[in-house]
Amino acid sequence: MIFKFLKSSYDKVKSALSKTRSLLGQKILSLFKGPLNEETLDQLEQMLYEADLGVKMSHQITEDLKKHYRQHPHLTPEELLDFIRKEILRGLQKFPPGLKEVPSGGGPLVILIVGVNGNGKTTSIAKLAKKFSDEGKKVLVAAADTFRAAAIEQLEMWAQRIPVDIVKGAPKSDPAAVAFDALTAAKSRQMDVLIIDTAGRLHTKTPLMQELEKIKRSCHKVLPESPHETLLVLDATTGQNAIEQAKSFNQYTPISGLILTKLDGTAKGGIVLAIQQQLGIPIKFIGVGEGLEDLEPFDAEQFSQALFE
Ligand code: GDP
Repeated sequence: MIFKFLKSSYDKVKSALSKTRSLLGQKILSLFKGPLNEETLDQLEQMLYEADLGVKMSHQITEDLKKHYRQHPHLTPEELLDFIRKEILRGLQKFPPGLKEVPSGGGPLVILIVGVNGNGKTTSIAKLAKKFSDEGKKVLVAAADTFRAAAIEQLEMWAQRIPVDIVKGAPKSDPAAVAFDALTAAKSRQMDVLIIDTAGRLHTKTPLMQELEKIKRSCHKVLPESPHETLLVLDATTGQNAIEQAKSFNQYTPISGLILTKLDGTAKGGIVLAIQQQLGIPIKFIGVGEGLEDLEPFDAEQFSQALFE
């Protein structure tokens, strides 16, 4: 049963990476079928760069491969590809997986979700709520994006469909007050998890960023250790721009982890590596499709395997 679950999770990640895989794995393998020389190595570096691994990583991996090949000139194309896979894995394995654990009786795990509109915030909240709910946890979602009435409606629709409970604020009401009410309700109803949606904001708009701090203070008043996680939702298809967004958000409010959506919609899955290298923030989940089941915990080993298989 567990094996079946793991396999289906792996298959989902693998299929989400199919665009990246044809850019990376298959092209590199055919490159290695010929002799390895300065020209092919340049092409390799270019391919890695095109898959959004970033300039530094693309160069480093190519240099490491060059050295390795000098020492082992009889390696097969598959062995060379495996060397690259291991290099990528080495670049990824820095963070412990999973979210923070709240000791039993310590109140709900409070997760604050932030991000720019369109990145997949609402969908990711629904997917997360479904995940926790499937694990048998009692989940409450808080619609604290009081900025857009449509956002409240959208979250409500998801909540009914899963189903999970929802606390919502009136349009234009104070999001910090919604967070306060939701956490108070979650505590008294002995919920295991509270997921708080916030207004999609441009990371360049200072007042909105300050509002996030206010929401955090609100949570803090009800449960001093909360929010336990502040997860930033980033769209993998936006490449370097996603990294810039994360940098700006992190300046205003510390981000504890990332949800990287739409990996299925890009051939630039190498962005995962660039993000971890450049930001030092763990990727907690990856979005692998539009459905409720299409969110997977990020697992470096699984990711690097799926990238080249
Ligand atoms: P929000 O404005 O940030 O709340 O974004 P939404 O949750 O409304 O999502 C914006 C669009 O992205 C919707 O069409 C979603 O179905 C889509 N989306 C979100 N996550 C993923 C994903 O992992 N893969 C794909 N293919 N689409 C996604």
